[in-house]
Amino acid sequence: MTANAALVVVNPGQLVLEDRDIPVASEGEVLVAPLRSGICGTDYHIYGGNQPFLSYPRVMGHELAVKVLEAPPDSGIEIGETYVVNPYVACGTCRACRKGKPNCCTRIAVLGVHRDGGMTKRLTLPARNLVPSEGLSADECAMVEFLAIGAHAVRRAAVNAEDEVLVVGAGPIGLGVARFAALAGAAVTLIDRDQSRLDMARKLIPGCKAVLAAQMDAKSPEAAEAFDVVFDATGNRESIETGFGYVAHGGRYCLVSVVKGDITFVDADFHRKEMTLIGSRNALAPDFKQVIGAIKAGHISSRDWITHRTTLAGAVDDLPLWAKDRSQLVKAIIEI
Ligand SMILES: [Zn+2]
Ligand SMILES: [Zn+2]
Repeated sequence: MTANAALVVVNPGQLVLEDRDIPVASEGEVLVAPLRSGICGTDYHIYGGNQPFLSYPRVMGHELAVKVLEAPPDSGIEIGETYVVNPYVACGTCRACRKGKPNCCTRIAVLGVHRDGGMTKRLTLPARNLVPSEGLSADECAMVEFLAIGAHAVRRAAVNAEDEVLVVGAGPIGLGVARFAALAGAAVTLIDRDQSRLDMARKLIPGCKAVLAAQMDAKSPEAAEAFDVVFDATGNRESIETGFGYVAHGGRYCLVSVVKGDITFVDADFHRKEMTLIGSRNALAPDFKQVIGAIKAGHISSRDWITHRTTLAGAVDDLPLWAKDRSQLVKAIIEI
């Protein structure tokens, strides 16, 4: 393997290992050697060709642990150190950025999605997108981003210890939401259609209730009084619409996942409940910090969450397999 092998999605369904030139850091940028990249639902979508707003060829990889090789002298970044990457490159000047919300910058470019990411031996990125790892291992660093999405959603919905929380969808994002809701002291129920995911949830979220979706009835009168906060992490229109029924009077509904088309709900029910509907996108610096703290404190173990591993070369075959079948898989990691 040469100095800058990169795993490239040439076209949807076509994944190859390619030799690329080593990129040159421009002003304010660092040159890094990615150590680990988590594989995310987004990556399976990019590979499969069903991720909107994307051009090919694309190097994926936004859940990253990196070692710094070159850094601007005044950046405070330490050469040779391992960092977590915040993959959301924001413009810094739009209204959202000016209001402290770079996570929903109007011109956001996510590494590994809108521009080339970290499934490669060498990568350049803005120095300000590095987050100190505070002694986390490379595996742990690569888990921070997807968990930060969960931490952000829990922060958005202002979950507290008095809340009964329902998380719909027990994939990695839903599990992250559930973990941080539980850490906030809430009573947490997870539902999913897949029994193996629920078994995993019981192991990863101590004290949570894990229920098959088929056993829940959003239209029952009890359901409508059950949950102060409902999170959707399914990416499924029908599930999102059903979720409105689980929200208690005075409750909050936080949409972490996204679908392409419209969603509909009965406005009279929404109004009657005085429901709060919340969008949650990406994550902010305090969310990254919170996740790093939770991992350091032993609340989240990489040994339990990382269920599958491969290498940059191995991913050429492994990633397409996992794109088809993710049963028993919580988080897969590429060792770079
Ligand atoms: Zn991700
Ligand atoms: Zn912006």
